[in-house]
Amino acid sequence: MEQDKKPLRIAVIGAGIVGAATAWELIKDGHAVTQIEPSEPGGPQAASYGNGAWISPASIVPMSMPGLWRKVPGYLLDPNGPLVLRWAALPSLAPWLLRFLMAGWTARKVERTAHLLASILRDGPQRHAILAEEIGRPDYIRQTGLLYAYRDRNAFAEEALAWRLRRENGLRWRELDSEELRRREPDLSPAYRFGVFVEDGAHCTDPGAYVAAIVRAACARGAVLHRALANGFVLKSGRLRAVTTDHGRIDCDRAVICAGIYSRALARAAGDRVLLASERGYHGVIASPRAGPRLPIMPSDGRMANTPTAAGLRLSGQVELAHVDAEPDWARVDILVQHALKTYPGLGPREGLAIERWMGHRPSTPDGRPVIGPSATSPDIFHAFGHGHIGLASGPITGRIIADLISGRAAPVDLTPFAISRFG
Ligand SMILES: Cc1cc2nc3c(=O)[nH]c(=O)nc-3n(C[C@H](O)[C@H](O)[C@H](O)COP(=O)(O)OP(=O)(O)OC[C@H]3O[C@@H](n4cnc5c(N)ncnc54)[C@H](O)[C@@H]3O)c2cc1C
Repeated sequence: MEQDKKPLRIAVIGAGIVGAATAWELIKDGHAVTQIEPSEPGGPQAASYGNGAWISPASIVPMSMPGLWRKVPGYLLDPNGPLVLRWAALPSLAPWLLRFLMAGWTARKVERTAHLLASILRDGPQRHAILAEEIGRPDYIRQTGLLYAYRDRNAFAEEALAWRLRRENGLRWRELDSEELRRREPDLSPAYRFGVFVEDGAHCTDPGAYVAAIVRAACARGAVLHRALANGFVLKSGRLRAVTTDHGRIDCDRAVICAGIYSRALARAAGDRVLLASERGYHGVIASPRAGPRLPIMPSDGRMANTPTAAGLRLSGQVELAHVDAEPDWARVDILVQHALKTYPGLGPREGLAIERWMGHRPSTPDGRPVIGPSATSPDIFHAFGHGHIGLASGPITGRIIADLISGRAAPVDLTPFAISRFG
């Protein structure tokens, strides 16, 4: 601790990548940390387990882009697209959806969002490399770069706004012609004739195990893992006394809410209002693929990530706006697999492939920006949730920001645009 020398008792609620990275930074600052988590840290209940494993400084382009509203009727009717909206969820999602569409209404709005996201994604790969090194598992982070594959240059040009936003925010990339693409990725279908290689990108070889290793490392340095579900806060004269759980009360001076999609109820218990919805996503992992990518690849026509991981080829993607507890629609994994069979013709046939399937919740705010900073109601409760599509990449900087705020240092980025107060 640089300025505030007094160690504090801090409850970190949730042990996904955000909670794990936050607990680690707080332990490094010398605080007494209790991590509250009902399940295995980094287990399949967490979005941090099953994501695409991309740590990409290019992920600054928000989901809501100009003209998206025109496509909404199609999303309601087409069950096979990359984005589906379940009718049953429509009434409860309406306020979120409206604000989501408004967030991408004009190019000016998405320019601002991209600029803000760049401030927390720019050095994601470096922060992960340092974190993995600190916990003694540098092998979990691979800085091999990331590849976007297009059918041709015209398909790339159709995403001109996205790449302009990336260029304006300092991203550098290399364009690959058909020959160079084939040389790097011999298994890729010849239908892809243009590539964009983002050298600064990284990926994680096993996101769930990585999160578990961070939590283990924090515990080895004195953090305590408390297996429980947090459900409220005890405040006296506006100051925090304890976090309540289904397995007892944790006395503490500060609390950080990092419970992914379940953070909304906790924020409400703290007296804050937030719009948070699950953009449900899926993955299929093919254990021993006969063919596949050397680098993590995003085939632009599939809007999915194909990532080589320790467990095999992970195909992840799909956005399904539905209730958090609605049954998974496993047909969505079949869509991912069908696309991969076309992307890597040597992968098939489908019948011979053993596929591990998973569904999880991207904790998404309508404006695409996470909520990072103090509660509007108590100076002792902090928010660190709502990372949507970019939580793996921005987990370490979120942990650093929260530790800076709690330890009395200036945060590395302007936090005003990430404040909970924007929800009124
Ligand atoms: C298909 C898919 C692909 C993705 N791809 C990428 C990608 O390539 N790159 C990227 O950067 N991001 C990606 N993401 C997003 C990323 O996975 C999430 O933003 C990130 O994992 C969120 O982390 P988190 O720690 O906030 O939440 P989670 O990982 O969901 O963790 C929350 C934890 O809180 C616990 N919890 C819940 N309620 C309570 C409670 N009341 N008390 C205590 N604990 C509680 C849960 O058990 C859980 O362990 C993807 C997501 C999906 C679904």
